[in-house]
Amino acid sequence: MDNLNFPRVLCVDDDRDILDAIAPHLHPSYLVELATSGAEGLRLLRQHPDTAVIVSDLRMPGMDGSKFLAASRAIAPDARRILLTGCDDMSAAIAAVNDGQICRFLTKPCAPRTFLAGIEFALSEYRSEMANRSAIRQFTARHVLGEDRVTGLASRERLLETLGSLIDERNLGREAVGTVYLLHIHFVPPFAENVDSAAVDEWIRAIAEQLTRKALGANCIARWDKNVFAVFDDLPASAPEALYRRGQDLAESATSSWEIGSVYVTTEISIGIVAIAAGMIEPQVVMRHAELAEQEARGNSGAKVALYTAETGAKAEYQRDVIRSLRKAITDGELELHYQPIVDINTHTVHSVEALARWSHPRYGKIPPTVFIPLAEAAGLIISLGAWVLRQACSDARALLDLGFPRIALNVSIMQLLDTGFLYSLYIALEESGLPPSALEIEVTESVFAQDLDRVRSILLDIRKLGVCVAIDDFGTGYSSLSYLNQLPVNLVKIDGAFIRDFERGGEAILGATIDVAHKLHLETIVEGVETPTMLAQARSVGAILIQGYHFARPMPLAALAEWHAGFARESDEQSTQSVAMRAS
Ligand code: C2E
Ligand code: MG
Ligand code: MG
Repeated sequence: MDNLNFPRVLCVDDDRDILDAIAPHLHPSYLVELATSGAEGLRLLRQHPDTAVIVSDLRMPGMDGSKFLAASRAIAPDARRILLTGCDDMSAAIAAVNDGQICRFLTKPCAPRTFLAGIEFALSEYRSEMANRSAIRQFTARHVLGEDRVTGLASRERLLETLGSLIDERNLGREAVGTVYLLHIHFVPPFAENVDSAAVDEWIRAIAEQLTRKALGANCIARWDKNVFAVFDDLPASAPEALYRRGQDLAESATSSWEIGSVYVTTEISIGIVAIAAGMIEPQVVMRHAELAEQEARGNSGAKVALYTAETGAKAEYQRDVIRSLRKAITDGELELHYQPIVDINTHTVHSVEALARWSHPRYGKIPPTVFIPLAEAAGLIISLGAWVLRQACSDARALLDLGFPRIALNVSIMQLLDTGFLYSLYIALEESGLPPSALEIEVTESVFAQDLDRVRSILLDIRKLGVCVAIDDFGTGYSSLSYLNQLPVNLVKIDGAFIRDFERGGEAILGATIDVAHKLHLETIVEGVETPTMLAQARSVGAILIQGYHFARPMPLAALAEWHAGFARESDEQSTQSVAMRAS
């Protein structure tokens, strides 16, 4: 029963007649307890520590009124206390009021109206104190533990607090506690965040509202980070399929197209799920696992949902280990460059070579660049890795030129390209090596189209001004369309190997159209991933001139290039002899 609407009052007096006279005046507005001794009063109080008002006679045999009221503080600290005294005990009563032991005293004999007024007074004090406390609690919950300012959802701190107290409650982690879903919203393509921040806030609020509707029944919905939300269900964990279903259902709240400010964006969501098993006692560890599962989900090709398992932990440990060793590998020269020739099939000559980073890890063996380059980007190591590649390629370049490879293409990550020191390092590398700038080519992936295009355009123009060529790599796989091609100052388009692989399943039309448009814009094209004579014939049939792929050569160390080139030149001679013979016959 509500203690504020039906407050509990305890009256203690050794004179039973006095109690019997008081009680009828207190019913039915109060829940009344009567006791004829201090000891009995304390026993009743233990049963109802939420008692609002305690009234006690001063002179009682055994435990007197002051002792009883002092003892009552330990059991019902919030209760207001009233002392009933005879006129000859006034000084004791006044002293008790003064040192805060009681809120007021009443003298005996006491008229029922005076008695009721005294109780009302004590009660109003009790009520205002309780209201104050609740406001403080709410304030603390909102501002100290924190409510997210933008969405009104729980903050990161509040979620950790909630998880922590539920883990404590469920027998210190000996019982399963529930499931956390971590939902990370990504923009596709990742758009430059120069959009008005008020518009972004409005968008985040809209997502939070949809998520709240979807997550009905959740114990806590929190904004974990800028574009990351967390939903905590406190039900015992169900089968993984049910968790995946719930995760995907939650994801629907944010997978859509949006207009943020004046920009249209599409979002994609990746979800990490962690079932809080018995024995997990640290909320921070729970959330770390959710983050690792979310990172794994991000890398999935299909549905971007992953449940944390022991393997997730092992994979994260592997990645941490790889990042640690990569830092050392860059400084200790453990990396190597291999080179893959690109061939002009019209003239049967070498057009260029692409430098590709290789790494042999002392423990894990060969780690492909598709693994270590993204890790280097994530760990902020790509700038130093890229600087090493540039130095190494320039130092190999003289030998390559002498072997008859006129140009060396380097892959430059978008982070490296946008780094303010990049242009200068390119300039210095050319100065120190004395290479003709036309001997270098910079490959940037089409993810540049998702950046601030004006900025990218100006950087690429500066590179072109140095005399260095610029290529767009892996064209056609991601965000770009043909209409992008004339928006950046590039010389060359490298068309992703996916189209030659899928030549008979629609690749032919795309490959042909890309080559046509690029040539009309006076851009060279390279078809990547040509592995077989059939693929070569297919590429030729749609107008390809420059070819890269295993059909001609795999990437190889510098030392192997001379031999490859000699073989290639022999083939070339044989072909021209044959064609001369054919023309003559
Ligand atoms: P990419 O720049 O598109 O390089 C071409 C990739 O295709 C290389 O993979 C190459 O070995 C592979 N390839 C060449 N011909 C064929 C073929 O006929 N069939 C197939 N299936 N594959 C072929 P690799 O060396 O594993 O490099 C993968 C990616 O890693 C590169 O793709 C590039 O994006 C990145 N990367 C490599 N080295 C560097 C580097 O030094 N810096 C940066 N930022 N990225 C690098
Ligand atoms: Mg490349
Ligand atoms: Mg490529």
